[in-house]
Amino acid sequence: MTPSIFSIDVEDWYHILDVDSAPEISRWDELPTRVEANFRRLMDLLEERRVRATCFFIGHIAKRFPHLVREAAQRGHEIASHSYEHRLVYTMTPAAFLADATRARKVLEDIAGAPVSGFRASGFSVTEQTPWFFEKLVEAGYAYDSSTFPAARGHGGMKGGRLEPHRLKTPAGELVELPVTVAEVLGKRMCFFGGGYLRLFPFPLVRKMSQVVLDQGRPVIFYVHPREIDPDHPRLPMSAPRRFKTYVNLRTTEQKIRSILAEFPLTTFRDYIEDNRARLEVC
Ligand SMILES: [Zn+2]
Repeated sequence: MTPSIFSIDVEDWYHILDVDSAPEISRWDELPTRVEANFRRLMDLLEERRVRATCFFIGHIAKRFPHLVREAAQRGHEIASHSYEHRLVYTMTPAAFLADATRARKVLEDIAGAPVSGFRASGFSVTEQTPWFFEKLVEAGYAYDSSTFPAARGHGGMKGGRLEPHRLKTPAGELVELPVTVAEVLGKRMCFFGGGYLRLFPFPLVRKMSQVVLDQGRPVIFYVHPREIDPDHPRLPMSAPRRFKTYVNLRTTEQKIRSILAEFPLTTFRDYIEDNRARLEVC
């Protein structure tokens, strides 16, 4: 079976995007934190199944908890970047994005003592309005990206984007792009494989849609956040629809993650790219 990819966006309970009550970065250090315990529990689940994952750290989290980066690397996981300040790409200038992505890479490399080549934007917030994104990412020193969401979505989304992993040429050099996995259902592209989508849908449906994707020769890119296995984490005030999306099914997500780890062959982005480089088409 084509191996799939398991990824964790390493952030805390208050890293919620596009909500007025979300705290500014200047307040992050004062807030109670849950990321250490939750991330370690996730790593324990991975270890039980001998799965190695890609861990996209927010740079600010890495700086505050450098031991988590080192521990993840020691346990065999790939260290990658989830930006430094976790801002939405489409709210940033190209220069501000370049500075933030470069800073995150350098901080992570300093802590891990090894090169960092992968990036994921906060909220998959790359859109048709940010065509400079890929070039700036290459300039910031990255070799691959998993930030495009090829379907409609609240933040970002590129409805007509390519579904399969591919190579992109930019004026600054080449980049491997691994779009977030979506499956087509009745002509509509939908995600079942991470974040609120994984929490919302029952596992038999996640399994079935994963098989559809694998049968098309694509890897399934699973993505989770440490807070999603912590039903008792603090809540931010927000509208009822948003509250539903953000907090639905926190009590059943750990079991879904256990099932994914048990049922699918899984690898890191780095190893997937290494093993499939020759197959990745250029566009
Ligand atoms: Zn995030």
